[in-house]
Amino acid sequence: MICELIFTGTELLLGQILNTNAQVIEQELSALGIDVYHQITVGDNLQRCAAAIQQAAGRADLIIVGGGLGPTEDDISREALAEACRMDLVQDEQALAMVRRFFDRRGIPYSSNNLKQALVPAGGKAIDNPIGTAPGIMLEQAGKIYLLLPGPPMEFNMMVKEQIIPFLRGKLAGRVGVIKSRVLKCCGIGESLLDEKLGDLLKSTNPTLAPTAKFAEIHLRITAKTREAGLAGEMIAAMESRVHECIGAHIFGADEDTLPGAVTRLLREQGQTIAVAENFTGGYLSYDLSSAAGGEDTFVAGLVCRDYWRLQGKAGLVLGEVPAAPGERAGYMAAMVREQFGAGIGLAVAVESGEAARFKVAEYNFYLAGDFNGQLMLSKVTWSGEREAMTRFAATMAMVRLWRYLKHGLPFDAR
Ligand code: AMP
Ligand code: MG
Repeated sequence: MICELIFTGTELLLGQILNTNAQVIEQELSALGIDVYHQITVGDNLQRCAAAIQQAAGRADLIIVGGGLGPTEDDISREALAEACRMDLVQDEQALAMVRRFFDRRGIPYSSNNLKQALVPAGGKAIDNPIGTAPGIMLEQAGKIYLLLPGPPMEFNMMVKEQIIPFLRGKLAGRVGVIKSRVLKCCGIGESLLDEKLGDLLKSTNPTLAPTAKFAEIHLRITAKTREAGLAGEMIAAMESRVHECIGAHIFGADEDTLPGAVTRLLREQGQTIAVAENFTGGYLSYDLSSAAGGEDTFVAGLVCRDYWRLQGKAGLVLGEVPAAPGERAGYMAAMVREQFGAGIGLAVAVESGEAARFKVAEYNFYLAGDFNGQLMLSKVTWSGEREAMTRFAATMAMVRLWRYLKHGLPFDAR
């Protein structure tokens, strides 16, 4: 079954609210094995909404419209459906009872506007909405199923889970399938090299394999579509082992796993502790390493500042002669925090100050240093971007270096 989703609301097109309803229903539909090929957003405009419904009916079996069932002028979904299907709107007794019940229970009067919410295209049915004023609408016509759902997320979610999904499961009668995904997370490899190494695997159609780059990580989504969950799991596992054969050394986890989580797991396995010095990353490394599961055993302390010299003599710190050159400074600080905080590993980030700080988008030179029980490693990374994004990026790059060293013994400057 092919489904098309239409969301109405000018506020969605203006970027004032995020389309959270889409995420909810897409997760539910994929769990049933229903394909969603298109998702459209239209403003509160009758003609454009009707045209979107007609277009959807030309290429899908199931057309779901979210939003625009309210009592006001800009709520036009039911009118758009009637126009798209060339049907009249008629008052539906059941819908009227549902609207009345909402107001009667609360002892508040309803206006004539609310009566509009009891209109459905002739032949359509109302879908109960026990927590709002707007009933949903269901219409089956010319082999297509049209479902209109209220926009408020609480009402939308409840109607989807309690009524729409059971209804669709009944419609699919035995043809229920499943679309299942697993995300493998990689680091320390660029997208083009990954592409090259995976070769034809990226062309497979079931399961599909799709990479997305996220800062210094690449996520590889494996998606299988089949009749039952067990089989989908087997197909995913088979693809996963082929991916491992190609790029296994770069995979640090899957699904909910995080890079700091993977680093912390390795630190624990190796009985290591870590302290960090951050003069560009504003505490990201301290946050990531202290909040990861197991961080209570492995993270000792972090030193966060804009300028190390300011710390001279503060809080009993013996800073000594902090080098001015950023590369040396990073190495010096990694050793300093390791010793002063009594950790096995010291990790430090320093940035070349100067021109970069004055521009919104600029090129930055980061220096990432690790001191592993006295053995020093250093890496220089040059990257361009906005300062805020670059602080996050630098922290992630440091985490990647750390993971590669702990996992494979790779030096920080290894290509
Ligand atoms: P409506 O039913 O279109 O009048 O929408 C009612 C409320 O639900 C408004 O506050 C909308 O901003 C919100 N809403 C409508 N559509 C969505 C959506 N797709 N995701 C999240 N909120 C929505
Ligand atoms: Mg709306």
